[in-house]
Amino acid sequence: MSIPQQPGPTPVTSPGGSRPASGPRDVLGAAAQPPGAGAFDEHHPPPAELVGDCVHCGFCLPTCPTYVLWGEEMDSPRGRIYLMKQGLEGEPLTDSMVTHYDRCLGCMSCVTACPSGVQYDRLIEATRQQVERRHRRNPRERALRAAIFALFPYRRRLRLLRGPLRAYQATGLPRLVRRSGLLRRLAPTLATVESLAPRLGRAARPPQRVPAAGARRAVVGMLTGCVQGAFFPEVNAATARVLAAEGCEVVILPDRQGCCGALSVHNGREEEARRFARRILDTFAAAGIDYFVVNAAGCGSTLKEYGDLLRDDPRYAALAADFAGRVRDLSEVLVELGPVATRHPLPVTVAYHDACHLAHAQGVRAQPRRLLHDIPGLQLREIADPEICCGSAGIWNILHPGPAAELGDRKARTVLATGAALLVTANPGCLMQVAASVTRAGGDIALAHTAQVLDASIRGRGAEELLHQRAPS
Ligand code: SF4
Ligand code: SF4
Repeated sequence: MSIPQQPGPTPVTSPGGSRPASGPRDVLGAAAQPPGAGAFDEHHPPPAELVGDCVHCGFCLPTCPTYVLWGEEMDSPRGRIYLMKQGLEGEPLTDSMVTHYDRCLGCMSCVTACPSGVQYDRLIEATRQQVERRHRRNPRERALRAAIFALFPYRRRLRLLRGPLRAYQATGLPRLVRRSGLLRRLAPTLATVESLAPRLGRAARPPQRVPAAGARRAVVGMLTGCVQGAFFPEVNAATARVLAAEGCEVVILPDRQGCCGALSVHNGREEEARRFARRILDTFAAAGIDYFVVNAAGCGSTLKEYGDLLRDDPRYAALAADFAGRVRDLSEVLVELGPVATRHPLPVTVAYHDACHLAHAQGVRAQPRRLLHDIPGLQLREIADPEICCGSAGIWNILHPGPAAELGDRKARTVLATGAALLVTANPGCLMQVAASVTRAGGDIALAHTAQVLDASIRGRGAEELLHQRAPS
C-alpha cells in the first residue's frame, strides 16, 4: 500500500545539519525480530480504528518539527501513522521503524493541526510502549536511557547534584568549557546536559501546607515535580504564594509525593509510569483536595491521563479517573477561580512561549495570556511560529542533541525577534532549552515562569527581580 503524497512545506535544514541517513526507503530494513513476528503484541497496540482516521491530507506536515527539519515522509505524523498501520498488518518492528518513532518529539502539534481529529497522542503512546517491550536497543542507547531513568524521575538524586553544580557555576569554568568545545568533542551528551543546566540559587524546602490568605476558596494539591523541584524551587515557591494569595489552601506534602510518571509515559515505560502514578494517588487521595495544580506542562498532560494509564488496575482505576478530573494547570485554576488578589503594575515587555504539552496536549493557550494581560503595565508580544517545538520535549534534547539544537536555534531567533525583555513559559524543560539556545545565539533575555510573573505583581515587587533571572552565559 502506498500513501498519497501531498506537497509539504519546504524543509529547513541548517548547513551541516543532521539530515538522517534513513528514510522511507529503508522502512522495511533489517528486522529486529524473528520472521513472522508482527510489530505489536496484544497488549494495547495502537488502535486500528484510530490509525484509520488518518486520511493522509498532509495538513499536519508544516507543524511537525521533524518534517520541517528533514522533509522526510516517515519523519512526519502521516508517515509514522503509516508505519503503525504496517505494524498492525503484520510487518515486524524494524530498527528503522523504531528510529522514526524515536525521532518524534511527542510535541502533539500534529494533534491540534489535524482537521480529521486523529488522536496521534494515543497512537504514539501505545506504540512507544510496544517499542520498549519488544525492541532491543543497542548497548549505547540502553546505557544512556538507563542512566537518564535512574536519575531524572528522582528529585532526591537530582538534588544531590545541586551542590557540585553550584560550585561549578561559581567558577569561571562553564564559560571556558563551552568556548573550548572540548567537552562537546569528548562527551557530547554530557556537554548537552551541561549547557542546559540552569543557574542555581539557594533552595528552601517546600512546606507541608500553605494556608489560604483570607477566606478559603479551595483546597488544592500541588505537584513539586522532579526537575522543577530540584532545579527551579523558586517556581514552586511562587506557585504556592500565588495560589494562597488567591484564596487556596495548598497541600504540598513534599516528602511523600514523587515523580508523576510523565517522562516514563512519554518514553513507553508503562509499568514504571503506573508505579509513580499510584504513589501520587496514595499521597493525595485522602487530602480532601478540590484541584490538583501543576506548573509543569509535561507533567500536567500526563496527570490528566491517569484514568487511562491505570484503566487496567482494578484497585486504582476509579480513583485515577476521579483524580485526573481534578488536575489543572496553574493558569487554568486561577482563571476558573477568578482573581481576588490585587495586581500591582509590572512595566515589562513579555514574550509568552507556548509549551507544547500545555498548548497542544492540554489546549491551554488563552488562560496564561489572559493572566499576563491583566497585569497593569505588562505588554505581551507573540512569538512567530508558536506551534513549532523548541526542541526540549522531555529528554528528547538529550537523546537527539543535534536536531534539538537546530530547533532551539530557530526558537531563539523568533524569541529574540520580539524585542521583549522577558520570556515567560510554563515548563522547566522549555526554560532550560530556550535559555541555552539564546546563550548560543549570543542573545540576552530574562526568563521566568508564569507563576513568578504573577507572584511579582501580586507582591508589588516590580520587574527588577524578574529581569535579573538570566541564562548562564
Ligand atoms: S494526521 Fe490528520 S492532518 Fe495529518 S495527514 Fe492524517 S488526517 Fe491529515
Ligand atoms: S508529535 Fe510532534 S514530532 Fe511527533 S509527529 Fe506529531 S508534530 Fe511531529
